Amino acid sequence: MDALTNPNAANSTPLTPIQFLERAAVVYDNSPSIVYNNLTYTWRDTFIRCLRLASSISRLAIGKRDVVSVLAPNIPATYELHYAITMTGAIINTINTRLDPRTISILLRHGESKLVFVDYQLTNLIQEAVSLMPNDCAPPQLVLIIDDARQSLPSDQFINTYEAMVVTGDPGFNWVRPDTEWDPLTLSYTSGTTSSPKGVVHSHRGIFLGSVVGLVEWFVPKQPVMLWTLPMFHANGWGYIWGMAAVGGTNVCLRKFDTSIIYNSIHNNHVTHMCCAPVVLKMLSEGKPLQRRVNLMTGGAPPPAAVLLRTESLGFDVTHAYGMSETCGPSVFCAWKSEWNRLPATDKARLKARQGIKTIVMTDVDVVDPESGVSVTRDGLTQGEIVFKGGNVMMGYLKDPEATEKCIKNGWFYTGDVGVMYPDGYLEIKDRSKDVIISGGENISSVEVESVLYLHPSVNEVAVVGRPDKFWGESPCAFVSLKDDKVKPTADEIMKFCKGKLPGYMVPKSVVFKDELPKTSTAKIKKNVLREIAKSMELVVKGRL
Ligand code: AMP
Repeated sequence: MDALTNPNAANSTPLTPIQFLERAAVVYDNSPSIVYNNLTYTWRDTFIRCLRLASSISRLAIGKRDVVSVLAPNIPATYELHYAITMTGAIINTINTRLDPRTISILLRHGESKLVFVDYQLTNLIQEAVSLMPNDCAPPQLVLIIDDARQSLPSDQFINTYEAMVVTGDPGFNWVRPDTEWDPLTLSYTSGTTSSPKGVVHSHRGIFLGSVVGLVEWFVPKQPVMLWTLPMFHANGWGYIWGMAAVGGTNVCLRKFDTSIIYNSIHNNHVTHMCCAPVVLKMLSEGKPLQRRVNLMTGGAPPPAAVLLRTESLGFDVTHAYGMSETCGPSVFCAWKSEWNRLPATDKARLKARQGIKTIVMTDVDVVDPESGVSVTRDGLTQGEIVFKGGNVMMGYLKDPEATEKCIKNGWFYTGDVGVMYPDGYLEIKDRSKDVIISGGENISSVEVESVLYLHPSVNEVAVVGRPDKFWGESPCAFVSLKDDKVKPTADEIMKFCKGKLPGYMVPKSVVFKDELPKTSTAKIKKNVLREIAKSMELVVKGRL
């Protein structure tokens, strides 16, 4: 065999993250894999349960390239199904549990889902979704996830219970390896902040690379204890579903949580790692100091520097990452340099609020002029579109070549995010392209204005959008929810607070107080809704709309 003409049969088996579980069952056999209320499984249990379940799924004539969906919160079944479904050769499609029946029916139809595993608390939701599917498309079969295998089924659309499928499955099932590492592994629908949801497809290879790099970039050691405060349905828990099996971690599952549940769980389970969106980070920043430090990764929306500062002071070591469904979670990390440790805390928080630099599986990440594709000046000021190239960029959008070609072009994936590149090669997001405010010809980053407003002690949450302005074209309008304090600042006071901290043209010209800001199902603030409100407001009494 000629050493210069590779690949050969021994070095080219397709990469797949499924094999992490097989290995975990040997290395971490008796160590906890999943903890949920009073239930604990070991890695050996998890492997056997997944094999049994996979065999029961394949007995339903489900196999290569079939789509199987999961509608469930962060419970053990959601974790196990990531393996059991894909061990049959099928594609896993996790569905956001906060979606409405109509949207779910559209996703099921679009993905041609054959089977849906449904949590017992979501049976009405799925039944309504299925009833909205058109007559000409075959509805999926349903399986009820409930702890009791003898539980009766809510309707004849349900063919079995989850536990019954585990119990009757074959533990000797021969799991199906992909033919090539480009075989599809996951189908996840985008949150649809700028358009209707699109079905993102990732391959075994992309997920393998994304899961491994997530461990490397976050310095995850062997046997961490991961608290699942990030929905597993969101980009497959940013790849950490597979990552935890690779390092034999303990997955602490939570069906529902609030600040005190999280703090109790951290304490009782000796949690070492957790991921969450900035909204949860903000919730935690109002808690008490921790007894032991916890590694926390945040992303999904821009974390304001002020919130980072408060959370770190409580004992969370925060890592900031940036990614999207199209990259199976984080592809850019704010990789920390030891020399930054010597800086004052506020400077550290400011640096950490930047999204950062490509991971080691990305070929390149850049900020470019969207028209010419030429890199912007690396001055931290010139804005452009963020583009990616490399290992964990998706295969494309399911049945949507047009949308795929729109964002994958000239050898790059165009993110639709607007950012700047600093001279040190770290990037910072300034906005989604649709959210940039253009006032008097100047581009205003809503994120930058928001980060100043977050410094105000009475501000709970804030979103800044463009409001039509006869003179300037658009002017910044801030929607603010206040903390539950006795002190309630006026709109004038909020505007005054921004003066001196922002150039004049960036200071909000109007401030609207709201009890709560509207959010998408993945907790992103719905700026499109706020823009409509801002547009419809006619009477402006200085600062009061
Ligand atoms: P999704 O596909 O639902 O995960 O949404 C991805 C989008 O969330 C990205 O395109 C960004 O607009 C936003 N996003 C994700 N991470 C960050 C971050 N660290 N900072 C700012 N925005 C982020």
